[in-house]
Amino acid sequence: MLNGKVLDGKALSAKVREEVKEKVNAFVGRHGRPPGLDVILVGENPASVVYTRNKERTAKEVGIRGALHTLPGTTTEAELLHKIDELNRDPNVDGILVQLPLPKHINEERVLDAIDAGKDVDGFHHVNTGLLSSGRSALVPCTPIGCMRLLAESGISLDGAHAVVLGRSNIVGKPVAQLLLKENATVTIAHSRTRDLPALCRTADVLVAAVGRPELVRGDWVKPGAVVIDVGINRIERDGKFVLVGDVAFDEVKEVASAVTPVPGGVGPMTIAYLLSNTVDAATARLSRLVRHKGVFLEAAR
Ligand code: NDP
Repeated sequence: MLNGKVLDGKALSAKVREEVKEKVNAFVGRHGRPPGLDVILVGENPASVVYTRNKERTAKEVGIRGALHTLPGTTTEAELLHKIDELNRDPNVDGILVQLPLPKHINEERVLDAIDAGKDVDGFHHVNTGLLSSGRSALVPCTPIGCMRLLAESGISLDGAHAVVLGRSNIVGKPVAQLLLKENATVTIAHSRTRDLPALCRTADVLVAAVGRPELVRGDWVKPGAVVIDVGINRIERDGKFVLVGDVAFDEVKEVASAVTPVPGGVGPMTIAYLLSNTVDAATARLSRLVRHKGVFLEAAR
């Protein structure tokens, strides 16, 4: 039996944040101000409150100007769109993130599409999803980029490998599948209607689980030596305590896979690190477009 290597997302995310810090310093040197990330939270969903505070705090830690705009749960769609418009026009705002889920009376698609595509650091705007699916450069959703970096760290060659992605959501399943395809993997996307999921998973060299079902993927679903990325975050009660588990039965899978991500401490920390990375990249790209627009292209290209 192979003894799986645990892919430490916490340590790797610290490395990514160091890389971001260096890019932030270069940006400040060139533009005289830090990149700015503005996060909008509507309502008081407890998980969202924690996530948005973390995003603001971690942004500040790498030198990004982080701001959290907290709007009441009664905010109308028109009021939220007005706020987004204000941030779209603000030249010091480089990244805008609207925390999901939104209250039911607000149309999520309309809101995400109202964000300036160049400031869409979550990569959910239809322009960015379109660019990604046509293989062109775009702001790519953070969790999928984090998964790809973890795969790179595992040392697996994706070229020609069979990758099975469990889940077809717009925020994880579909974009991770696009990125795997870009790296020349042969990609199968599975979902709730897929027949004989265990048999399909056993054909995977790379398995990415993003279904939101606690410990769905068992040890005997995994081909010996496969690399398994567990995106799931599920809060369950075990032995009278609340614990976080992934979509993968970690202890079983660790015995079979060549590498597997833990929950917590795997994909989660990578998501925030790549949000910061997207912010500095969006800022750099937008300002170089602006500088070019004013005719001083050489300055931007330096
Ligand atoms: P969604 O609920 O949007 O999508 C879940 C997907 O899984 C759907 O495509 C669904 O199929 C499929 N699915 C559900 N049940 C099964 C099943 N029994 N067998 C096969 N497929 C199934 O979830 P998200 O993509 O938003 O998130 C997935 C998980 O990842 C969640 O646990 C979430 O908390 C976590 N997450 C973690 C992040 C991180 O930073 N680590 C970031 C984002 C999400 P169908 O389309 O047919 O309904």
